Amino acid sequence: MRSNCRGNVLAERDGRKIIKCQECGFSHVYPMFDEEELEKFYENVYAESTPSYLWFEKVQNIRKWKKPGSILDIGCWEGKQLEYFIQDGWQCEGTELNKKAAAVAMSRGVEVYQISIREFFNRYNYKTWDVINAAYILEHIPDPLQFLVSIKNNLGEDGILIVEVPNEFSPFQLAYIKETLIEPYWIALPDHLNYFDREGLETLLSRAGFKIIHGEASFPMEMFLLMGDNYLADRVIGKKDFAKVVEMERVLRNHDPGLVSQLYTALYQCSVGRSIVLYAKPVKH
Ligand SMILES: [Zn+2]
Repeated sequence: MRSNCRGNVLAERDGRKIIKCQECGFSHVYPMFDEEELEKFYENVYAESTPSYLWFEKVQNIRKWKKPGSILDIGCWEGKQLEYFIQDGWQCEGTELNKKAAAVAMSRGVEVYQISIREFFNRYNYKTWDVINAAYILEHIPDPLQFLVSIKNNLGEDGILIVEVPNEFSPFQLAYIKETLIEPYWIALPDHLNYFDREGLETLLSRAGFKIIHGEASFPMEMFLLMGDNYLADRVIGKKDFAKVVEMERVLRNHDPGLVSQLYTALYQCSVGRSIVLYAKPVKH
């Protein structure tokens, strides 16, 4: 991959560094892991999905620009996001390496390719979709720039790419570790290779030749830490806090279907939020 990576060391873990890379424009592990080693890790070990709870908002936002067409969800896990698109009349396909998750997605009516992302694009590089969703993918792959550049070929006329990544080294996280003097707790090797904040993700998309058309950030879970709920020490607290957010969003949507999206657009503008969701189109030449 990239050979000139260098930058300030943000953290060290297991003999590797997390650097704020001047060359790439975002933070990542250094040295990088081997790609085949990583694929083995996902096929066998990785069993938890990062919960995304903006499934409804993603359909709603896409409908501002597009009628129902075809969508590919890269790393679709159990097909929950695509289920929302199926209900809206979309033709849904997904890739998922994890066998168990792929089986659940298929039972929901999703056409699933149970192969690695790399293999999928080698095999189907000629195919195009109206929308491609890549949620919680970019932080896992060794070369996200190359991935985004090549995916432009898989977007149809006026195609839209949705990316979602955890928002790391975010202002709330940094405030919390400064206060508690703990190490950056969000570093997770070998599954998270890249660590994006708003600036890093925007830089990456722009270098890959995309124009950002909309941005949102999901609820800043770190607020619970800042208010004294130490979910890092107790997973039960974390689950309860997460359930509170899900319930709050349900009540807000019930009152006004656009309210959650409005709120989270404002959070994105402040660079806070647990994850960042960007909607982008390839720049035309
Ligand atoms: Zn780099």
